[in-house]
Amino acid sequence: MKIKRKRTKKFYIRDTAIGGNSPITIQSMTKVPTSDTKEVIRHIKKLALSGCDIIRLAVLNKKDALSLGKIVSSSPIPVIADIHFSKELALLSLKQGVDGIRINPGNITKKSDWKLIAKEIKKRNTVLRIGVNSGSLPEKKEYHNLNEVDKLVLPCLDAVHFFEAQGVKKIKISLKASNVLETVAAYEKISKKTSWPLHVGVTATGTGDTGIVKASIGIGSLLCQGIGDTIRVSLNDPSLREITVAKSILQSLNLRKFGIEVIACPGCGRSQVAILKLAKQVEASVKKIHKNIKIAVMGCIVNGPGEAKDADLGIAGGKGEALIFKKGAIIARIKEKDIIKVLLSEINKI
Ligand code: SF4
Repeated sequence: MKIKRKRTKKFYIRDTAIGGNSPITIQSMTKVPTSDTKEVIRHIKKLALSGCDIIRLAVLNKKDALSLGKIVSSSPIPVIADIHFSKELALLSLKQGVDGIRINPGNITKKSDWKLIAKEIKKRNTVLRIGVNSGSLPEKKEYHNLNEVDKLVLPCLDAVHFFEAQGVKKIKISLKASNVLETVAAYEKISKKTSWPLHVGVTATGTGDTGIVKASIGIGSLLCQGIGDTIRVSLNDPSLREITVAKSILQSLNLRKFGIEVIACPGCGRSQVAILKLAKQVEASVKKIHKNIKIAVMGCIVNGPGEAKDADLGIAGGKGEALIFKKGAIIARIKEKDIIKVLLSEINKI
């Protein structure tokens, strides 16, 4: 089964495609001051290797903005400057050659400032993200009596229409709230009103499992409806974690493949093997193999092969032994100690 994606406008940010039928990209942010150039570049390279497609950097002051030129030229992936409050920082960042800029119409509010920013964006063919956030909504009177969803959607659309009229040709949109339902409703609404690519995420999700669950429900339920062209999983965790969770979300919805997908049963009273340990061993052994296949690690030989019959290859653990199966059909019975060796050799044959 495949998700039918809503067709949005397509453009490139550096050489990475956004929107249309291009792969849904993964974004993250570095979590050190942008002026710490060396450290930022080190982080970006690490994140890029782990699967981050686009990186966003917070620009809080002139020192941050002036570091961007060096960062952009050293970064293997497109760099977006994240600007709040200051048109000066926006203009300075653009002049440093960033690939994209995010502005928040809730705190850069003057049309005269937007005009100057639009002019610089057009001159450089830079990508603009209009990012509305529930924590910093525009104060304008006409927005006061709106419901929580429209408070995100309408100011965003007003800004979008303004920049379109100024001739800006590459726009992305985001509307983030920390409330999952409001976030989802806002994206659903705006996706009916515009065909610009949507940057999807839930903000301030919280720590640990709660953050992952909130982000996955919010992003996942939109992706299931075909909404979303680029995603950021905001977590109160190191950025690398954001990338692994984003990859899992996309892979579980068959929207992108990132090498071998390992699935495992939860284990139950029927299980005769240490399923958690075995799944982790398998995951570690196949991590560097770039094949788009699915491997199942199942806890028993009674139900395992049947429960995971859509897997390309699987192991079903028994007492001191295991069955190897392909698409649900058993192909070998092996000793427990040989599981990884045999599995790797079977993967080789695919
Ligand atoms: S595959 Fe076997 S061990 Fe795993 S959950 Fe199903 S019945 Fe339980």
